[in-house]
Amino acid sequence: MRILMEKVVIIGSGCAGLTAALYTARASLRPLVLTGRQPGGLLTTTSLVENYPGFPEGVDGYELMVRLQKQAERFGARVKFATVETVDLSRQPFGLTVDGEPVLAETLIIATGASHRHIGLDSEHQLENKGVTYCATCDGALPMFRNQPLVVVGGGDSACEEAMYLTRFGSTVYLVHRRDTLRASKIMADRTLAHPKIKPIWDSVVTEVLDVKQDKVTGVRLKNVKTNSESVLDCAGVFVAIGHVPNTQLFKGVIDMDESGYILPQQGAATNVPGVFVAGDCTDKVYRQAVTAAGLGCAAAIEAERYLAARIE
Ligand code: NAP
Repeated sequence: MRILMEKVVIIGSGCAGLTAALYTARASLRPLVLTGRQPGGLLTTTSLVENYPGFPEGVDGYELMVRLQKQAERFGARVKFATVETVDLSRQPFGLTVDGEPVLAETLIIATGASHRHIGLDSEHQLENKGVTYCATCDGALPMFRNQPLVVVGGGDSACEEAMYLTRFGSTVYLVHRRDTLRASKIMADRTLAHPKIKPIWDSVVTEVLDVKQDKVTGVRLKNVKTNSESVLDCAGVFVAIGHVPNTQLFKGVIDMDESGYILPQQGAATNVPGVFVAGDCTDKVYRQAVTAAGLGCAAAIEAERYLAARIE
């Protein structure tokens, strides 16, 4: 079997990956984008994106990613719905197994993003998709949540966004946060706390999701971290929005990363392996915005292009 050699393979199809695709496509490198299990990345699960430059009325997250993919494809990017199973970065060209098929790549851009962090409770795990979810935009409109009290866990922009979105469906939305101030940006925090349907529950953590025996969410057990007092709050849904973990397990031990798994670039977008570049939320634990991911994707693409050009000279 003849294995085609790719000049640029991009793993991930969020803002970073597709921007890298756009730039490398315009450099006539015909990048191959491997989408992973969530084509378009986490932004496709957001509703309105109000802070992406150039959209004064905001833009739907899903629509933004569809447009970005079309833009990259217009210049020759090939976007394939596929999952990378293994990578061998010990030799050039790099070897990948993609849905069981081998792929060879001269350069690799890692744009694998990040996934939702879980609280880590057994009951959370057992009731996932039975009332516990990580995406209000995906699941909020389900009949089981209509006109019911709902709980959002977290205090960042995501939690505020989820809570605001859920006010359309739930009777009351409880925002359970482990501290007494929100981490979210001021505009989001003010908007959230001013909403009549949203009730914050400060200094509290969820210690158990109820009720595993009934095989559905009926409430949460809460602990106030200041007083240690426990209580039960009735609800039909638990929406966990407590941040993200980078999707970098595939590169562990080969690509330099910090203790949380965020890839550490050496210089610009270059990693410790020559020819491997990184962009987006899998390397950024500080800004994590759509626009910064796009910027990092652009940088990685330019560096991959320069790397390839230098090899030819
Ligand atoms: P985040 O800013 O890291 O916030 C995570 C929240 O979850 C924090 O309030 C944190 O509490 C809490 N938390 C973390 N681990 C927890 C645990 N084990 N148990 C209970 N609570 C826990 O994450 P994010 O809200 O997903 O936002 C990520 C990035 O995306 C941010 O840069 C954000 O600005 C951006 N974003 C922007 C928008 C927008 O602009 N429209 C929307 C969504 C996200 P502490 O506060 O105590 O640490």
